[in-house]
Amino acid sequence: MCFHRSKVNSEICCSINTEIINTGTELMLGFVTNTNHRWLCRHLADLGFTVGRQVAVPDTAASIAAAVREALGRAELIICTGGLGPTSDDLTRECIAELLGKRLHEDPQVLADVQQFFKVRGRTAPDRTRVQAMVPHGAIVLKNRNGTAPGLALETPPGLGGPSAGPGLLIMLPGPPRELEPMFLNEVVPLLRSRFPPQSPCICRTLKSTGIGESVVEERIASRLRGLVAEGLEIGYCARVGEVDVRLVARGSRAETLVPEAERIVREELADQIFGSDSDELHEVIVRALAARGQSVAVAESCTGGFIANRLTNVPGASAVFAGGFVTYSNASKQSCLGVKEETLALHGAVSAPTAREMAEGAMARLNTTYALAATGIAGPAGGSPEKPVGTVFIALAGGGPTAVLHRVNQCDRETFKFVTSQQALELLRRRLRA
Ligand code: ATP
Ligand code: MG
Repeated sequence: MCFHRSKVNSEICCSINTEIINTGTELMLGFVTNTNHRWLCRHLADLGFTVGRQVAVPDTAASIAAAVREALGRAELIICTGGLGPTSDDLTRECIAELLGKRLHEDPQVLADVQQFFKVRGRTAPDRTRVQAMVPHGAIVLKNRNGTAPGLALETPPGLGGPSAGPGLLIMLPGPPRELEPMFLNEVVPLLRSRFPPQSPCICRTLKSTGIGESVVEERIASRLRGLVAEGLEIGYCARVGEVDVRLVARGSRAETLVPEAERIVREELADQIFGSDSDELHEVIVRALAARGQSVAVAESCTGGFIANRLTNVPGASAVFAGGFVTYSNASKQSCLGVKEETLALHGAVSAPTAREMAEGAMARLNTTYALAATGIAGPAGGSPEKPVGTVFIALAGGGPTAVLHRVNQCDRETFKFVTSQQALELLRRRLRA
């Protein structure tokens, strides 16, 4: 899910002109969300490369060639994604080789890797996959540990990256995120570090907050950071549903003092609202905290339909802390699975504080955990009433103290409703764990 609104106060001044080209007709037709773009921008920014331009193009030779030719006229670092596979619409490798006047040859090592990939899976490599072993002359091969098509990196001639530019680098990465992401981290990052060594130190720290809006975050920290900004600190805010990131960046000899000092101020001002840093996710923070204490959690979910359990079980090692959960959508299942009392449902309704409380307490007792979270609400669009409008939700936390119940009104589409509610539930638990 991508709920991004981002505002960067000042440009990160990387001297390397960087551009991304995402190829794929599926992107243009709206069948696939361009997550590679977002993911690469984030990771490049952390390495000190700010993407100056990005374009998505369909899988046609003419579109790919035009986009790459244009980018070569401006950028010293070009990252091109998609179209390295074995099918007839995978044209990136051939297109770029032709554009740069590089002949392709079959690389025996890559061919062996492709064949091995199939062999370990008990399959014979289809003939078409042989094309993935074709490597442009002079290219660096980037190993693909999660698929067959290797990535490729090619030097681009001096001058092509703009009038004052030296030689640049054009990197081709496979389209599937599960292949692209580890390849970028394992193969591309070391290559970028050696090919474009930082001119001066660059420190970047992202502090992640929840339960507070973007403008309030800015209001609380901006004035105290003003002095550091005057000395070169850059602040960026990135608001997503339920979370606001504060990004602190500094370059040069003062970077090592500016960023920690800014972090100290932000932590002081936002205090409890900061749940983590850099790539931390709220559910990961919770699993880590529970694991460190040897404690466990269960969930009882109605309106979130298992979304809280899904988030917790996305974390490797969740089995050490997550006992299990109940998706109790009907009144009957709330009674039979969790022991919610008939009188409670009759008197207060399924969407009520007493029901949420009994759900959480029921899950905790049945699964014998340290804590249990419960959520019951009206996701909408129908089912609201004047007393309980669409978006009404009750979230309960049992264990580690008296059962707490939150009442919120999350008025948004169903998918966002589930995310926001899960965020509020996890945050409720995080605060109890901190207390
Ligand atoms: P393959 O060997 O799987 O064909 P490829 O390098 O040729 O890999 P593509 O054919 O362009 O890559 O894309 C394969 C799949 O990867 C797409 O169907 C899509 O699911 C995913 N994908 C491609 N580009 C992106 C993108 N920019 N963001 C997210 N997913 C993408
Ligand atoms: Mg393909």
